[in-house]
Amino acid sequence: MIARDHETVLANMPESSSKPWKAPTNVSPEHALSESYELGSLIGTGHSGAAPLSEAFGKTEGKVEGKTEGKTEGKTEGKTEASSDGGWKITKFDQTPPMSTYLLAFACGEFAQLSSEHKSAKTGQTIPLRIFATENQISQAQFGLDIKKWALPVYEEIFDIPYALPKLDTLVAHDFDAGAMENWGLITGRTTAYLYDPEKSPLSAKKRVAVVQCHELAHMWFGDIVTMKWWDNLWLNEAFATLMGELVILDRIWPEWKPRSAFLNTHLTSALALDSQRSSHPIEVECPDENQIAQIFDAISYSKGASVLRMLMGVVGEDKFLKGVSIYLKKHLYGNAETKDLWEGISEASGLDVAKIMANWTLKVGFPVITVKEKGNGQIEVKQSRFLSTGDVKPEEDETVWWVPLEIKTFNGDKPSIDHKAVLNERSGSFDLSGADVFKLNAETVGVYRVNYSPERLSQLGRQSSLFSTEDRVGLVSDATSLARAGYSKTSGSLSLVNELGKTETEYLPWAQIGAALDKLKAVWWQQPEDVRNAINKLRVSLFKPVVNRMGYENQKGDAPEVCELRELAVSTVAAAEDPEVLTELKSRFDSLMNDGNDSRIPPDLQRTIFSIATRHGGEQEYNKILDIYNKPPNPSTKVDAMYALAATRDAKLLDRTFTMLENGSVKNQDMYIFYVSVAESSTTPR
Ligand SMILES: [Zn+2]
Repeated sequence: MIARDHETVLANMPESSSKPWKAPTNVSPEHALSESYELGSLIGTGHSGAAPLSEAFGKTEGKVEGKTEGKTEGKTEGKTEASSDGGWKITKFDQTPPMSTYLLAFACGEFAQLSSEHKSAKTGQTIPLRIFATENQISQAQFGLDIKKWALPVYEEIFDIPYALPKLDTLVAHDFDAGAMENWGLITGRTTAYLYDPEKSPLSAKKRVAVVQCHELAHMWFGDIVTMKWWDNLWLNEAFATLMGELVILDRIWPEWKPRSAFLNTHLTSALALDSQRSSHPIEVECPDENQIAQIFDAISYSKGASVLRMLMGVVGEDKFLKGVSIYLKKHLYGNAETKDLWEGISEASGLDVAKIMANWTLKVGFPVITVKEKGNGQIEVKQSRFLSTGDVKPEEDETVWWVPLEIKTFNGDKPSIDHKAVLNERSGSFDLSGADVFKLNAETVGVYRVNYSPERLSQLGRQSSLFSTEDRVGLVSDATSLARAGYSKTSGSLSLVNELGKTETEYLPWAQIGAALDKLKAVWWQQPEDVRNAINKLRVSLFKPVVNRMGYENQKGDAPEVCELRELAVSTVAAAEDPEVLTELKSRFDSLMNDGNDSRIPPDLQRTIFSIATRHGGEQEYNKILDIYNKPPNPSTKVDAMYALAATRDAKLLDRTFTMLENGSVKNQDMYIFYVSVAESSTTPR
């Protein structure tokens, strides 16, 4: 690669040589760069492929530094006249092992760096770990770097395969279309994916960095050292990296974040939401050409894929599941593989016919709702049929019969036991629960399905909720409220469950499900008479205001992460329900910032809520203050908070100013969606 002397140049592999470079007479460096040097001579690649190669280009090159924005390669900044009298260098890199072309990366720019190292217990070798960002942001990159050091040993132990390249860099890019990209040896991503300011960033920003870095690290094995055969198996890469990065590894490094149950609120929820649409698609979806790749990077590939893998992990046991993954990786090192190869590995480790269990989960669209009928003699009859959010499945859409692990939880006193053998692999079946007056299907909400109980059983489960685990309670709320929204059951039944549960609930995750369900319920009714919406707001206040009163606005030293999260959820929910007392408090906190420049009354975890309340319930002065913050943010997450607020105003003129920003180049393409998400959220509130 040819670059200016002072620039840092990076590629998948370490630099093998660098020497001064002089352009041949009459050839500018740009010209030389674009025509004279082909990639193959600079960086070894496994094989060629034009489209994936340009994808990799798009994701790394030329997006590395504020100053170079808007240029396609960002390498010379219009200083070509200096090229003939030195100031340029040519750098070569070691050849990579065989790898897919979409993983190729190289970059150059004015980067600062932090470094550490990983000593492999497998090989005894020391692998340099670095993270690159612009000078003004490098101090926020320490956490992103540390994660590699903590997570690599865990990955090596689980997969029983050492990290394969001689170095591992991360590059923080100012402009990036996706969130991050797993280029082998040179992971790249946007600022919110890797920067964390311990003083000023909220817990959610810290979690995002952890999740993204762990996800990309999983790809170093799953995706990079073994790659899917074709894009129709994309899910294999993404679902697995999601499961590892957001559950398995996270749980080993940050158990206090409760990633196992948090997974339900993030991935299982979005998987079931998208897959309950008539327009959904199977996990394994045809991809006739690479131009269609972008369409399958969705919640089905990531979240449903990860959720069905989590279900399989529950069925075979985590140790055997991970052992099977290791078998699969070892069999296909430096090669390509497809879904059936992974099933073979897990079958070998578990002794189960995994392909048979999983077939309809990955090859067919949708998921089932299990309807439970109690026959009064200790027997239950269960029936499966496809769940649609519109509640109007037609016979021709309802032909799939899934292999459903019922995981029936019963209680003997307050001691639970789970029947792992109860499987429904036909349309309907009967199961004997005699002797158990407390029962619940889908223990730990391990399955990718919903359960529909009778209204009586549902309210009984609400009263018994304290017997059940966090995962169970999250699943109960999610199922009951989704089924009611879709018309499978009455809204009153789900609200009575929520009310019962709310009386004793102390944990963040079930509360988050309740908050989300009421938010969606209000959205469903947004065009209805005002008294309906007011009634829903009243319910939100009655459930969440006591939590605000109990917990206050400020995190206390030593508060567990979920305590901080519950505080944030309660304040933001009561604010969204327009409780005057909470609104006044939040506005006064913003006024301290706006009038006195005092930000000490804005806790990082509440910043997004306070900013949005300020513009939603304020005027031009508040809007202008937020605009200042947007233009000069102290860290990436504050900039995102300002974006939400700029689109949250109810003043049509101010909203016009925001839309003008979207059109006049003041907003990067990568950030456009944030404004639209915010507008969409605001639209549930009538103007
Ligand atoms: Zn990924």
